[in-house]
Amino acid sequence: MKVNKPCPECKAIMKLGRTTLHFERSGFYADVEDVEAYICPKCGTRTIAGNIAKDIGDTMELLFQSVKKTARLKEKTSFTGISFHKLTASKTSAR
Ligand SMILES: [Zn+2]
Repeated sequence: MKVNKPCPECKAIMKLGRTTLHFERSGFYADVEDVEAYICPKCGTRTIAGNIAKDIGDTMELLFQSVKKTARLKEKTSFTGISFHKLTASKTSAR
């Protein structure tokens, strides 16, 4: 990711950080955690790089589609939430 990216709102130099993205569709919501983002230290504006935003959007689209399909087949979903996380290196090696 590029450094010294100016904030689109206030032109302050944005800092690379992590944020949580919230999606809502078809009666479900999903939070995508630890997303790489530029965060403005001055006004709090968050910017996600285009390729990252697209990857997440594609993943969420498939997830929502899949859940919607399941819900239609069973008339109601047999669960109300999915917690989906990448294993950290330490957790993986502890197995
Ligand atoms: Zn700003």
